[in-house]
Amino acid sequence: MKISDVKFELKRYEYYETFHITGSSRNVAENIEVKVFLDDGTEGIGEASPSYRVNGEIISSLFSLESTVKEMIKGIDVRDYAKVFKIMDGLSKSAPSIKAAIQYATLDALSIEIGLPVYKIFGGSKDTIETDKTISIDTLERMVQKSIETFSQGFHTLKIKVGESLKEDMEKILAISEATKGAEYVIDANQGYSPKEAIQFANFLYENKVNVKIFEQPIIWNDFEGLKFVREASPISIAADESVRTKYDAYRLIKDDCVDFINIKLMKSGISDALAIIEMAKTANVGLMIGCMSESSVGINQSVHIAAGTGAFAHCDLDSHMLIKEEKFRGKFVQKGSTINLL
Ligand code: MN
Repeated sequence: MKISDVKFELKRYEYYETFHITGSSRNVAENIEVKVFLDDGTEGIGEASPSYRVNGEIISSLFSLESTVKEMIKGIDVRDYAKVFKIMDGLSKSAPSIKAAIQYATLDALSIEIGLPVYKIFGGSKDTIETDKTISIDTLERMVQKSIETFSQGFHTLKIKVGESLKEDMEKILAISEATKGAEYVIDANQGYSPKEAIQFANFLYENKVNVKIFEQPIIWNDFEGLKFVREASPISIAADESVRTKYDAYRLIKDDCVDFINIKLMKSGISDALAIIEMAKTANVGLMIGCMSESSVGINQSVHIAAGTGAFAHCDLDSHMLIKEEKFRGKFVQKGSTINLL
């Protein structure tokens, strides 16, 4: 069946609690829900969760793409989805979240059409995945409290946001690891440290036997040499997040031995570049994790299906839908605590 229409709709979601990371605090997520209609009435759904901080995306400019995208992909048969992927690759520099949403909505429509869930289209590697849950920057007491609460809800891996003060971060992490024995941590500095601070922090975590799986984006995104310097000196695994948006970024990071892990987010790369990065990382024996921006259950659903279908990720950080208020859960999966089962 052929694509007959495309519609964008603005969605606002309130956070349960202020989401504070290095250099950014937010209470509301503004997303764009995307629908791809087929000429038999089938509706494929996707979601863009744009990021000004990471992608330079601005909601109003993204809306101006609605008619352009519609003109470009109208008439394409969803079974030829590579054609849609290629067209959206052309938009990726200015609007990667829209690229992700349109690519996914096309696959969702195809999935309905052929009666096969999207994760099966990607190979159905797994039908269950585990996610962490994020503890955003707050006072030491509140971060410890939140960590205890989240760990007791069955989240084995806690993602801890740091990066605004090295000294306080050291105190916070020690207190959290003391209060949640048996947990594992992903530490995310969101570019907050200098290379020397990052190395100091990594050594501190190691010496204090904090059970850290991954130390994410310790330094500024565009300092690839700095990242390599940190990685070489760090006793714990270093991941790039803000440093890798396209497959070309991933290629450079891998070629220059800058990272142990790459954090793929559909909102930075779309589905096409995510798939390219997966193959590159697997070939180079670089680890993979998958993360999110501020997606609702509609957007998280996209990453859940890619993660389960490809089975490529050593770690999933797919928790934004748990941090915002939604009227109705709309994922095509069932979640119980940290466990996500595909339908
Ligand atoms: Mn991150």
